[in-house]
This record gives sequence, C-alpha cells and structure tokens, in this order.
Amino acid sequence: MSNIPEIFGENVFNLKVMKARLPKETFKALKKTIEDGTPLDTNVANVVANAMKDWAIEKGATHFTHWFQPMTGITAEKHDSFISPSADGQVIMEFSGKELIKGEPDASSFPSGGLRATFEARGYTAWDPTSYAFIKDGSLCIPTAFCSYTGEALDKKTPLLRSMEAVNKSALKILKLFGSDAKRVTSTVGAEQEYFIIEREDYAKRKDLIYTGRTLYGAPAPKGQELEDHYFGSVKMRISAYMKDLDEELWKLGIMAKTKHNEVAPAQHELAPIFSTTNIATDHNQLMMEAMRKVAKKHGFKCLLHEKPFAGVNGSGKHNNWSISTDTGVNLLEPGKTPAENAQFLTFLVAVIKAVNEYQDLLRLSVATAGNDHRLGANEAPPAIISMFLGDELTAILEAIKDDKQYAEHGSGEMQIGVDVLPSFPIDNTDRNRTSPFAFTGNKFEFRMPGSKLSIAGPNTVLNTIVAEALDEFYEVLKDADDFNTTLHELIKKTINENWNIIFNGDGYSAEWPVLAEKRGLLNLRSTPEAIPHFADPKNVKVFTKHGVYTETEIHSRIEILLEEYVKILNIEALTMIDMAKKDILPAISTYVKELGKTAKLAKECGAEAKFEVEVVKKLSALESEIYEKLTNLETITADAAGITDIQDKANFYHDEVFTAMGELRAPADEAEKLCGEKYWPYPTYGKMLFYV
Ligand code: ADP
Ligand code: MG
Repeated sequence: MSNIPEIFGENVFNLKVMKARLPKETFKALKKTIEDGTPLDTNVANVVANAMKDWAIEKGATHFTHWFQPMTGITAEKHDSFISPSADGQVIMEFSGKELIKGEPDASSFPSGGLRATFEARGYTAWDPTSYAFIKDGSLCIPTAFCSYTGEALDKKTPLLRSMEAVNKSALKILKLFGSDAKRVTSTVGAEQEYFIIEREDYAKRKDLIYTGRTLYGAPAPKGQELEDHYFGSVKMRISAYMKDLDEELWKLGIMAKTKHNEVAPAQHELAPIFSTTNIATDHNQLMMEAMRKVAKKHGFKCLLHEKPFAGVNGSGKHNNWSISTDTGVNLLEPGKTPAENAQFLTFLVAVIKAVNEYQDLLRLSVATAGNDHRLGANEAPPAIISMFLGDELTAILEAIKDDKQYAEHGSGEMQIGVDVLPSFPIDNTDRNRTSPFAFTGNKFEFRMPGSKLSIAGPNTVLNTIVAEALDEFYEVLKDADDFNTTLHELIKKTINENWNIIFNGDGYSAEWPVLAEKRGLLNLRSTPEAIPHFADPKNVKVFTKHGVYTETEIHSRIEILLEEYVKILNIEALTMIDMAKKDILPAISTYVKELGKTAKLAKECGAEAKFEVEVVKKLSALESEIYEKLTNLETITADAAGITDIQDKANFYHDEVFTAMGELRAPADEAEKLCGEKYWPYPTYGKMLFYV
C-alpha cells in the first residue's frame, strides 16, 4: 500500500498545488474567488488555465473536459485535447482562461423538460471554482455548472449552489443576532454509500441487470439475510482487495474515503467519506460511484448501485449526513455548554424541525425515483413517511420547553432559554434508532431516504432551502425584539408546539406507525408519480423562487424530467421482462419439460411410476401457460401505455397498471425457477449471485 498522505489528492489541482504553481497575486485572487465567490478576471483566468495545463500535462493528461451534472442525475463530459496548430505544421499544447471559464457543449440531447423548446437550443458550462479541478483517465476535469443561454439551470449543481447561498444568507442574519462574527455559513454533507458486489460473469448472463440494474426475476435463495451474519462481518479477501484499490483511487482524487464495512444484505457493502461542503460532497459522491464501478471491473466484479437489485433482501441507500457550520469553526447543530451557545443550538435545531415538518413533501419528492420506490413505501420497510428522531433526552428537553414543564435532569424550576444551561445529554445515545428517515445524530441530521444511485444534489438543495426559509421566518420575529431571550424562548416554544407531530422516536418499520402517522396528519406519498407533482404546489414554488433556487419554469421542467424518467425506466423494465420470458424462460421450461416427459415415457414403458417427472411436468406446464398469459397481458398493457400523452397520466398508468402486470408475470416465473433443474435455468440464481463471491 502506498504512503497515503503522499498520494492523497495527487490528481487534484488543490490549494497546495495552486500555491506552489501560481504567482502570488494570482493565487490570492483565485483564493478569494473560491472563498467569497468574487468573479475572476480574464487575465487571472489565463494564468490559472496555463498553470493547470502544465500541471495536468506533467501528470500525463492530454485532454481537458468541462465536467458537469445534467438532470440525468449522472455526470457528463466531452473531451478536447490541448493541441493547437502551430505555424510550422506542428502542434503546441494550449489551454486558455476562456476555455477554463466557459464551455459550449451541444446541449440538445440532455433532458431539459421543455426548457429548451421555449428558450435557446444551446447551453453553456461555467467553471465552479469552489470545487477543485482533477485528473481522471488522462483528462483534466473542470467541475462546472450547466445553464441555458437565458440563464435557466439545466443541471443539478446550479440549484445546489444557489441553495447554499440561501442558507448562508439566512443563517448569517440569525447569527448576527447572537453576536457572532461569522462571515460565511456552509452546509456540510457526509454521504454514506451502499452498494452490492457480484461476479461480473454472473452479471453478464442477466439481461435484467444489464438493461435495468436490478433483477426482474429471481426466486429467493434458501438463505437470505436472516442470520444477520454479513453485517460488519469479516470482509472476504477478494472484496477486501477491491476495497483497498477503491480507497486508493479515491484518495488520489482527494476524496476522504474513511469507513468501509459489510452491510446487512449478503454481497452488500458500504463506504463512507469524511464530510465536506455540500457542493464538494456532491461532486465527490458522483466520482465515488464512478470509481466503484470502474474498480469493480478490474477485479472481475460488477458493482450494483441500484436501490433494489434483489427482492427479499435489503436495498441500498445513501445516508445523507447534513449540518451547517460557520467559517469560525462552529457546527450550528452541535449542542453547546453555555446558555448562549445552547440558545443558538436550539434555534437552529427547531428551525430544521420546522423546515422538515412544513416541507415533508419536498424532502420526500427529492428522493423519489423508480428505483427508490422499491425501498420506500413498498411492501418492505421503511415507509415513505417523513418523521424525525431526536432521541429520548433531547425530546424530553424539547417537551419541557414546549409544556413549561420541569426537565427532570435540570433540577428545580422551568428552563429559560438563553439564561439557563441546557441539561447535557449523552450524545452517543442519540443514534440508536435506525428506522427513522431523518435522525438527529448528536451534531448533525442523517437523512436516510435517498437511494443509493441518487445524486445528493436534489435532497440537499431542498434541505438548504427549507432551512433558510425557517431561519428567515425566525429572523422576522427576532430582529426587533426588545427582550431577545424572552422572545426567543417564546419562538422556540411555539415552534416546538406547532411541529411536534413530526417527532417520532418509535419503530418506523412497525405496522402501527403508518396508522399513527396518518392520525398525526403526516404525509405518506407512496410512489414517485404521487410525490413528484407536489413540486409545483404553491407553497413550494414560493419557497424556491423566494430564495432564488429554482424559477417556476425550472420547477416545471424538473417535474417533467422526473416523470419522464420514471416512465422510461418502467418501460425498459417491462420490455426486458417480456424479452427474458419469451426468449429464455419459456424455452428453458419447455426444454426441461420435454426431458422429463421423455424420461417419464421411458419409465412407464418399463412399468415404473415416474412420480417426480409426471408431477413436475404437470406443475411446470401449468406455470408455463400462466407465464405465457401474463406475458401477453404485460405486452398489451405496455402497448396501451405508449398511447397516453399526458406525462402525469402516463406515469400513473405505469405505476398502477404496468408495474402490477410486471409483478404478475414475475410470480409464476419465480415459481417455475424453483421447480426447474438448475442447469436448465437460463440465469444465475440469487443463491449463486449473493453468496458465491
Ligand atoms: P453511521 O454509519 O453510524 O451513521 P458513520 O460514521 O459511518 O456513521 O457516518 C457518519 C457520516 O457523517 C460520515 O460521513 C461523517 O463524515 C459525517 N459527518 C460527521 N459530522 C458531520 C457534519 N458536521 N456534517 C455533515 N456530515 C458529518
Ligand atoms: Mg448512517
């Protein structure tokens, strides 16, 4: 293993490299741009570009690319070489400030949700200096935002950067009231990434994995995750070699890969980095997913990032740990030790509670995808209901404030915010509940609903914006208060009271919870087509436009893109199921039945009973007919779906009809798999894929 501090960030044009390679004045100007967002002038950009190019070429790069995050949720790149013709018919290597700052990829094939029909066909990419440039596969990658010429965001990064600005502004206003001298507030994220690893040769035999990323058929293996022997289990040698390689790849890219372990489901693992600013965490998570796939290939594996690759065992998520902190090093969600620190902590804490309660729909829809629908609100836990876990101690403290009651640990008398010391509560006690979708874990919140494949830009854009809004509302109440502490106490008390319903410390996976949640009036948006349209609810449009995060047009474009993506994914899945049943599954059953039939006939001629053959032939023939019938039904329904023009109607139809028909086809096929001789079955089984690596 290499020397980690030495290789860490070796492929990144980071502050250390900038300082070493840029003239002092240029370095200062660039640092100011990175820290305060001040625009960079052309001369400075030229110098930076030239230094970047020299550095990249020394590292073996030949090309550069603007690396961006279109609304497909993955990253995009188009590579240009540094070569430029010289007078003598040779080439020189060039890279200008203009090329660094702005690019013009042909945008017409990226989803725009109608933005491009009404506006310009072209889009441009603009350098985001807050995220460092890096080298990947011989190309200098420049993180960029992607916009239309009329300024509409065509990507996931632009709204995220806007939301970071919103929460910065709103939090600073509040902090000022507390006498803080902070100049910048940044939202931070650590995204824990779950994934499955299977043998590449198994993957290559399954059309469903190839086309859709998940198994569309597959009978359960004799063993599942019931023994819980995989979670934190010792890592097998080949997997361990993979993880080591992956860590090294990530470290070179300046990604702080920290924790790795086996997860609950067989063949499932997790990798968590050390947190960073939301923007960088988002970029790094994209790079991490890409590296996971790439390194897997080298090891003869396939990395599955789908939210539910296998039925019957856990799916994969991406726990989004979120907090906000100041440039003075204060984590605003860290409980303090003095009355003033505590008051500030409680203010930010209840702002998050209010935000999550009032914008449950936005948080829910920010993680709504066809893949994640298998995790949330499907027949397996967790449900699609947003609630918050605070832990017993913190809940008891808030309850005491809410009801003007005495907190047991506090001794006598009621607690007065800003005057009294908050009773200390053991932080390591706060992380016990693993079933909550939104849990306070001592000094940050962990949003556990995002699916494993999702770009975390969306949920964090929502989080930043809604917290900014709650803080703004607080500011209006607090700014002219005569008696700050009393006004603050009343505000916190009122906020707790109004949002008490969202707090739930119980078992979020229990059958009782959805019933109780409904009584509490909490939203339960079970599927993507049900969740997405809430994006355009008046209160949601209001909050996004007020904070300059999305324009109304951008919201509508995103609704269209998200619903379209849902429809396309289900359509591909339906067609893949049809193809597999017709070309592989039915012929396989037929062959096996023929073999059994022949044996039975021979046996009978010898006067034997051939009980097994006869029984299985009967059962399989019946299943064969059923599969054929359900297959025909799915074909008809999928063809009907194609005729629907309204995108919301179409998404609903795919959810209600196509998805149901897919389930009806899968059931008899999985039954048949259980009866069919292993060597006749056309695909590697769950047992083989999940347990043999
Ligand atoms: P667990 O698996 O128990 O949830 P981990 O230690 O695996 O916990 O992951 C916690 C994640 O939270 C890590 O990625 C960590 O860097 C991140 N984290 C810690 N502090 C903060 C913070 N202030 N803001 C955002 N993320 C944080
Ligand atoms: Mg976690």
